[in-house]
Amino acid sequence: MVWCADFLPGPDLARITDAHCHLDFPDFDDDRDAVLARARDAGVQRFLVPGVQKSQWSRLETLGQKYADWSLAYGLHPYFIEAHQEADLKALSQQLEKGAIALGEIGLDATVGDQEKQVHFFKEQLAIAAALELPVILHHRRTLDTLLSLVRQAGVTQGMVHAFSGSYEQAMAWIDAGFYLGVGGVITYERAQKTRAALARVPLQRLLLETDSPDMPLQGYQGQRNEPARVIRVRDTLRELRQL
Ligand SMILES: [Zn+2]
Repeated sequence: MVWCADFLPGPDLARITDAHCHLDFPDFDDDRDAVLARARDAGVQRFLVPGVQKSQWSRLETLGQKYADWSLAYGLHPYFIEAHQEADLKALSQQLEKGAIALGEIGLDATVGDQEKQVHFFKEQLAIAAALELPVILHHRRTLDTLLSLVRQAGVTQGMVHAFSGSYEQAMAWIDAGFYLGVGGVITYERAQKTRAALARVPLQRLLLETDSPDMPLQGYQGQRNEPARVIRVRDTLRELRQL
């Protein structure tokens, strides 16, 4: 079975899920149930909630047990590179063996932190994914092509490029490598022409809808906390772009 089968939107984009949201973050502590209720009322059926650092995994696991419509992943995110310790890698393998849909969120971000340490933790986590035969959830910022070569070297052949932004050629290179592309709020901005053009053409069955809540606000909501109910607007924008 396809690892993200529960999250595929279907040929007419009828199934709505949020394939990338950080609903365990403290941003939602005051009103998490209300946020989830709004999303479910809007038709969102599942939520993929990835991990970002070791200190957060157990809380994520507890919330995942509470909410039956969440799927979980665990990983060491490049934003939190200062916090990651060598021993976290072993802990990650153990955490994943308790049950996870994927390893993530991991990746490289050229705009923050120690680049060398990021590459080290990224490569080590790719090796874990390859060993456990788990898909990976990738964060990129000005690193899309570097990520692809490291993923290929590691022999990882399944996963998702979260918040894809890039050209049609880059999109197809990831799809050829076995990956799905996360389609988020970026497509609601007219200025994202290259990404909008790419996502209008790539095979629909390789796209996953997502918000990255509480981050990446949609056009018109700049400066506000993002939430999964708004994945509907991402879906509608994608429908327009693809003339569905
Ligand atoms: Zn994220």
